[in-house]
Amino acid sequence: MDIDNLIDGRPVAALDGDRLEVHEPATGQVFAHCPASNARDVDAAVAAAHRAAPGWATTPIAERSRCLQRLADLIESDLDAFAELESQDSGKPVALARRVDIPRAISNLRFFAAAITQWSSEAHAGDAGFNVTLRQPLGTVACISPWNLPLYLFTWKIAPALAAGNAVVAKPSEVTPCTAARLGALCAEAGFPPGVLNIVHGTGADVGAPLVAHDGIKAVSFTGSTRTGAAIAAVAAPRFRKLSLEMGGKNPAIVFDDFDFSDVSLDEIVRSGFANQGEICLCGSRLLVQRSIYAQFRGRYLERVRALRVGDPRDAASDLGALVSQAHFDKVVSAIERAKAEGGRISCGGSIVHMAGRCAGGWFVEPTVIEGLATDCATNQDEIFGPVVSLIPFEDETEALAIANGTRYGLAASLWTRDLGRAQRMAAGLEFGIVWINGWMMRDLRTPFGGVKHSGIGREGGVDALRFFTETKNVCIAPPA
Ligand code: NAD
Repeated sequence: MDIDNLIDGRPVAALDGDRLEVHEPATGQVFAHCPASNARDVDAAVAAAHRAAPGWATTPIAERSRCLQRLADLIESDLDAFAELESQDSGKPVALARRVDIPRAISNLRFFAAAITQWSSEAHAGDAGFNVTLRQPLGTVACISPWNLPLYLFTWKIAPALAAGNAVVAKPSEVTPCTAARLGALCAEAGFPPGVLNIVHGTGADVGAPLVAHDGIKAVSFTGSTRTGAAIAAVAAPRFRKLSLEMGGKNPAIVFDDFDFSDVSLDEIVRSGFANQGEICLCGSRLLVQRSIYAQFRGRYLERVRALRVGDPRDAASDLGALVSQAHFDKVVSAIERAKAEGGRISCGGSIVHMAGRCAGGWFVEPTVIEGLATDCATNQDEIFGPVVSLIPFEDETEALAIANGTRYGLAASLWTRDLGRAQRMAAGLEFGIVWINGWMMRDLRTPFGGVKHSGIGREGGVDALRFFTETKNVCIAPPA
């Protein structure tokens, strides 16, 4: 399979003709190639976006909304093919892509298609005149997305950017470029004029960096690692670009002694650690359990984790598929070794899974639970982004809060208690952008999404995303003489 860039409405190879290999994580084999673009391709994409931006900004809102709706419909009518491709590209179970990733990508497009038709701005009438707040599109914006939820996060960025009237240059992860390319191929049919959405494939160094530094870019919306976010901020800040950074996490799931021990709750906590092979920024990789129920909880939890099936992502019975790349697989395996060196006990998993047949060359790791680690060790401080959960006992609310807040990250926390007062106290004290109570990854697209500390700056979702992708202008009309 050969993937092209989308520039000015046309599928094109990288100007230099270079290509990158794209691997299928389940087999370790190359199954596609994408353009290895560079700054010249970025220039061409930004130029196309500039040509398209004024026309798109003045396109009636209803028509912008219709284009997004049609794109959603086209993806929906091809849902199975999108899901299979997403699974092949990322290693996630195809059932998960069919149930979560692709439906959510469709919802992202539909949500912002509707939101833009309902959005209003403020007016302030007073002695100083009649003030109207205009929210105007920025022009050309950059959207840079990661590999873990490829189409889901790609659409989470481009949908509000396009709905708000901007032209977009998007850079999907070079590790998982396929579904973004498939979406790009539907843009003309959806009615988007050429140049409104441009997609440039390639590495972060060769495409992402020149895109962020490009003088024609007004804003950068980035989701990815904290390290890359810092590099982007260093380039964007002196150029005074608007910047939204959604970055890494080391999220706590906190289980109190009044936990209900229902199957639903236990399954949800297992899911919070191992969904998508633990490759979700929101995964609860630190599982804090109140000491008085630790032994009881541990038994029930481990029993469920041991029952998870690692297998071919095509197999409907697989709970976990393959890790996304050889490099990431190596990182996760070495993180497990480091945990052992730090004194951790492997209570479950801890090994590579050697598959037979089609998946013999794939990158599979057992769901792994580790106990006995200090809260300040690297395993409990650094993001692993794999199927690895650390169990940590705590005494009381004060200690739970101190452990939970005791990392440089602050993306999402979940807590499990039936005591409303405790839930409210904890929610107030947790230094995280998102707190879930008795659940995990419950997402309403209207809510502000994002992290604090080293997990992010700014918020996405709902009106926050529309605000980010527009510039506010106060227009004041003098009062009557
Ligand atoms: P990454 O930072 O390596 O790459 C993300 C994107 O940035 C890719 O498209 C990459 O090519 C590009 N990039 C790399 N270097 C760049 C540079 N110098 N300038 C511009 N762009 C550059 O992240 P990843 O490994 O693809 O994704 C995993 C990370 O993403 C994890 O840390 C995870 O927590 C984070 N993540 C965060 C959220 C969130 O909402 N907070 C969601 C998903 C993933």
